[in-house]
Amino acid sequence: MLKSTNEKDLQLDDTEPSLPSDTEHLKVVHTVANSGIGAKYLIFCPGCNCCHGWNDRWTFDGNLDCPTVSPSLLVTHLPNYASSKSEPTYDGVCHSFIRNGNIEFLSDCTHKLAGQTVKLEPW
Ligand SMILES: [Zn+2]
Repeated sequence: MLKSTNEKDLQLDDTEPSLPSDTEHLKVVHTVANSGIGAKYLIFCPGCNCCHGWNDRWTFDGNLDCPTVSPSLLVTHLPNYASSKSEPTYDGVCHSFIRNGNIEFLSDCTHKLAGQTVKLEPW
C-alpha cells in the first residue's frame, strides 16, 4: 500500500507461516485502534498484571520500545473493569510515570511495587 514499486525486493516476511508471529509483535507499547476504554497506546503494568493505556491527551514521544509519557497515568481498578478485561488479579490504585522505558510507581499505588521504578518489558 505504501510502496507500489520494488515490492518484490522489499516484501516483509510477516505473512510467512514459519515465522513465530508472537515474538514478531512483542513491543513495550502496543498501539490499538480506538478501544472501548479510549486508550490508544497500551503498556503492560507489572504492578497490576494488566494493561494500562493512554491516548492523545497525554504527551507521548512515540517510542514504542522505550516510551516516555506525561503527565502521569492514574489508574483506578474497579471490580467490573478487571473482570471484563482479564483475570481480576488486582483492585486498587496504580499511579505511575513512564519515562525512558521505565515505569515509576508513585507512593500512592496500592500494589507491592509502590515507590519503585521498574523497566517495562515487551509483551
Ligand atoms: Zn498498574
